[in-house]
Amino acid sequence: MSNSSPRPLNPPYRVLMGPGPSNIHPRVQQAMAAPLLGHLDPYFTNVMDDTVTLLRALFRTENRLTFPISGTGSAGMEAGFCNFLEPGDIAVIGVNGLFGERMVDNAQRCGAEVVPVTSEWGRIIDPEAIEEALKSQKRVKLLALVHAETSTGALQPLAEASRLAKQYEALFLVDTVTSLGGHEVAVDDWGIDICYSGTQKCISCPPGLAPFTANPKALATLEARTRKVQSWYLDLSLLSSYWATGRFYHHTAPICMVYALYEALRIITEEGLEARIERHLRNGLALHHGLEAMGLTLHAQEGHRLNVLTTVRIPPGIDDLKIRQGLLNEFSIEIGGGLGPLKGKIWRIGLMGHSSTEANVLLILYALEKLLAKEGYPIEPGAGTTAASKALEEK
Ligand SMILES: *Cc1c(COP(=O)(O)O)cnc(C)c1O
Repeated sequence: MSNSSPRPLNPPYRVLMGPGPSNIHPRVQQAMAAPLLGHLDPYFTNVMDDTVTLLRALFRTENRLTFPISGTGSAGMEAGFCNFLEPGDIAVIGVNGLFGERMVDNAQRCGAEVVPVTSEWGRIIDPEAIEEALKSQKRVKLLALVHAETSTGALQPLAEASRLAKQYEALFLVDTVTSLGGHEVAVDDWGIDICYSGTQKCISCPPGLAPFTANPKALATLEARTRKVQSWYLDLSLLSSYWATGRFYHHTAPICMVYALYEALRIITEEGLEARIERHLRNGLALHHGLEAMGLTLHAQEGHRLNVLTTVRIPPGIDDLKIRQGLLNEFSIEIGGGLGPLKGKIWRIGLMGHSSTEANVLLILYALEKLLAKEGYPIEPGAGTTAASKALEEK
């Protein structure tokens, strides 16, 4: 056996412009290096209280049950389904991308019967189709939608769906993993009963926590369950006994991740939620203008495009991997490729949280211009960056 020490850890610095994680603020990085405390230490329980207060402001909710679940965004998704669905329940779920599909899988694993409402990947779910699905069943327990479909770049309108959920007496569950902290999300005003997110997208924290909130109506459903929640780890009544109602040990909270989230939420408060959403809008639109000026086609339905994640079609004859490798190796930029039916057809460019800057908009356009020109794509040098800087100046 060799006695040389294993390689030191020395990851390169990347500009993270994919579908998440986004870059983190140096203050968030620093927060994770703060001294470790016990999970019942009075100092730490104060941090928990303050984190919950800041999360309520971010979700725009008064919900008492609001806290970060230990685990990534998918843990939030699983908690959203396994606590509220029992075998035999009916769930209507919007499916227009990978995360809608993942919701269906979650609901089916809970033994629920799923009525999917589908739409092409890149288009929104039509409210009329939602109503048809709700109408077709005797009693729908839950209506679930993905607000920001990270696999397609589409932003789902929620107002009409929320109204329909109330009319048909179904709980309204919304995935805001990619929208929270980048697009407007207003849990109480929008009548959302159950909502979860993730830390590594527009909140700009490392992956590892899933902010979660549920209102009293949802909790009444939880209390009325006829059998225990099948997941011990994600059982909201057990989690509440640590986060909300007492300080009873359930599992050891990931202390350093909570530090990171607290710091990230402090940064969001300092910037102001409205200013932050405005920043994502301005940079997102500038990127859209820049890409179109390069002769590229945006993939998501017009009028329903995300500002935090842009999907753009790969021009014919251009090698997907070659361009993405060029971005990584020559510019140290990460972007995402397409998933499922969009594999090899689109790129996904994130401008989330700390990564949503004017500098990054211009950098990605410059890098794409260079790499595409090298591949023989007909392009006027500077077309994308010029259009984007014009858009940035106008705003
Ligand atoms: C990223 C994402 C998830 C899953 O989050 P993980 O942190 O990867 O587990 C769920 N829903 C949406 C819309 C996402 O973008």
